Amino acid sequence: MILKANQKNGDQLSILGFGCMRLPTKGVGIDEDQSIKMIRNAINNGVNYFDTAYFYHNGKSESLLGDALVGGYREKVKIATKLPPFLISKLEGGKKIFATQIARLKTNYIDYYLLHMLTDKATFDRMADLGIMEWLEELKRKRIIHNIGFSFHGNKMDFEQIIQAYPWDICQIQYNYLDENNQATKSGLQLANFLGIPVVIMEPLRGGKLVNNLPTEAIKEFESYHEKRTPAEWALRWLWNQPEINVVLSGMSDETQLEENIKIASKAEPNSLSTEELKIFESVKAILHEKTKIPCTACGYCMPCPYGVDIPGCFASYNDKYLLGLKQNRWHYMQTLGVLSKQPAYASICKECGKCEESCPQKIQIRQQLKIIRKEMELPFFKTIVKIVRKATKIE
Ligand code: SF4
Ligand code: SF4
Repeated sequence: MILKANQKNGDQLSILGFGCMRLPTKGVGIDEDQSIKMIRNAINNGVNYFDTAYFYHNGKSESLLGDALVGGYREKVKIATKLPPFLISKLEGGKKIFATQIARLKTNYIDYYLLHMLTDKATFDRMADLGIMEWLEELKRKRIIHNIGFSFHGNKMDFEQIIQAYPWDICQIQYNYLDENNQATKSGLQLANFLGIPVVIMEPLRGGKLVNNLPTEAIKEFESYHEKRTPAEWALRWLWNQPEINVVLSGMSDETQLEENIKIASKAEPNSLSTEELKIFESVKAILHEKTKIPCTACGYCMPCPYGVDIPGCFASYNDKYLLGLKQNRWHYMQTLGVLSKQPAYASICKECGKCEESCPQKIQIRQQLKIIRKEMELPFFKTIVKIVRKATKIE
């Protein structure tokens, strides 16, 4: 297992991190025996970064990880877990959640404590206004948490604002060869690196879509290489080739995935891909881009929309529907653009003022496209459901 030093604190972190959100299941719950066996096997093979969250597996992921780490394993690993801002309307609420997490994890300190799923700077501001950041700093001074970070799902502009708004110890972003220009983007990764903030990658395979939903032409490109590799290996190698990345999380669900990932992580050095391999990626990306409905590069020149539409976010969600044939696409659209953002940012908020179109270098007819997206992605009662969910999750 290759280890990489965290540039902020010197922690030697395994480049492969274990994401505890897709643990093996049995019936409706986690297969506890199998999961504990896998976690310990991973540790014995050098994995030392374990990522979980208050919500994963309906709260059971943290307790399972806590169970797996008793008997001397805790000291060998770094635990990352997350505080869900969307559930917090008072400081006391945050403290209560943290106490639950510490109890579930059966530990008295958390190595990396992240604000979960920040989507915009306004959510960070709300946390700061509630006193959450001061409280986290106090926990850090007392060594109850060791590092403060955030995980991010939003657009490039929001990422740039959030990462510069606080002296973060770590950040976690969605990134893979398909998302080079999506969410935080490659320039966001480079900005984090420039600021000296370590980066943890989530969704390296887009929830398995870069394995199971790849167009046949893309698979053929990969197969043209003399050495046989799975699409998962290609995707992981693309990430580990980039020196700006510290840890790549993989949500492993069985021993075969674990074994394959450990094998790849033992030889995937930064800057190790050859010109030929990089060329293959360019061809694969070109194939994927050809299948992209709206040629938005997420440059952000059209933003901000005076009415709050997240234009690149709407386009990215819509493109995914066609590119990867995602089944839960409408839910994903509702979640990222309606429920988790500080204010709703979905397509039908557009008032057709036209301001955004003047600045789009791709000459996208934004108003027209947003109308199409509204029709396809916003089912009847969409707004009512968004309202109810926002209220239930205390965002209002
Ligand atoms: S046309 Fe729509 S999306 Fe564009 S700036 Fe105006 S309201 Fe916002
Ligand atoms: S300006 Fe055009 S390409 Fe850039 S984010 Fe907006 S819609 Fe996308």
